[in-house]
Amino acid sequence: MAIIDGKKISAKTREQIAVDTQKLLEETGIRPGLAVIIVGDDPASHVYVKNKKKGCEQVGFYSEEYALPEQTSQEELMQLLDRLNADPKIHGILVQLPLPRHLDEKAVIERILPSKDVDAFHAVNVGKIMIGNYDFLPCTPAGVMELIHSTGISVSGKECVVIGRSNIVGKPMAMLLLHENGTVTICHSRTQNLAEVTRRADILVSAVGRAKFVTADMVKPGAVVIDVGMNRDENGKLCGDVDFAAVEPIASYITPVPGGVGPMTITMLLKNTLTSAQKAAKGE
Ligand code: NAP
Repeated sequence: MAIIDGKKISAKTREQIAVDTQKLLEETGIRPGLAVIIVGDDPASHVYVKNKKKGCEQVGFYSEEYALPEQTSQEELMQLLDRLNADPKIHGILVQLPLPRHLDEKAVIERILPSKDVDAFHAVNVGKIMIGNYDFLPCTPAGVMELIHSTGISVSGKECVVIGRSNIVGKPMAMLLLHENGTVTICHSRTQNLAEVTRRADILVSAVGRAKFVTADMVKPGAVVIDVGMNRDENGKLCGDVDFAAVEPIASYITPVPGGVGPMTITMLLKNTLTSAQKAAKGE
């Protein structure tokens, strides 16, 4: 019945990132730099990019923003990535997804140097996460792990159920829980008797993208419930996947939307950029 305050945990983590950034700058002259590329004019994507820029300013990073027109060609985007890959001021490159349909998202992700792929979407980084030997954690799942850690509850030996199997949330989420010795089940749209499976969960993570999808009868009393979903309710208000009012009384801990997983995602992006700059300073 405690609400996990993602905003507060995020603010505390950013304070530490700012301290470490200052230290790196004083010791090596290197300031972490993040380049954010956005193609087209999707309003939601522009809000995310604005927040990322604000996050960079907050922790003392150098940042560059490229707002490219909808009709940008694959070749133009690739050339920009090549230039940023070679730029020593830039330690992290982020291409805001989704891209317009005429662009090959997979090829774009693969063009970013794995050492600057702070979203951890490149196949090399995905593979490293799989074998548990990674430099960058994927931002949203990494943020979820920090929120779980904040409860003081150990994942080890717990029944963990993840709803959703996307490459950016569900799959890496399951892997991080597994690395911490959870007993992990991944559910998706073909899962039979979903409520039966989710009711087993000591830790339930929902990443579906549907308002009020997780109802009280799907939750084991005392479970930790993490809501990754970002949806709009019938009044256009931002909400998660979980029916918060019904589930909050039975969960031991629960994340709200907004103010839960969302703020952590950008914080983890900043953390990855700092890690990349620290590695560059060591010549790695
Ligand atoms: P996605 O690629 O659309 O994946 C959704 C997943 O939900 C799929 O694996 C799908 O199963 C599963 N699903 C759909 N209907 C289901 C059902 N009836 N029963 C069980 N599973 C079902 O979405 P995503 O990119 O992972 O994002 C998920 C949500 O998280 C979205 O609301 C997104 O906006 C949000 N998000 C939030 C953050 C943040 O920072 N807070 C970051 C990223 C994403 P199939 O694979 O079988 O289709």
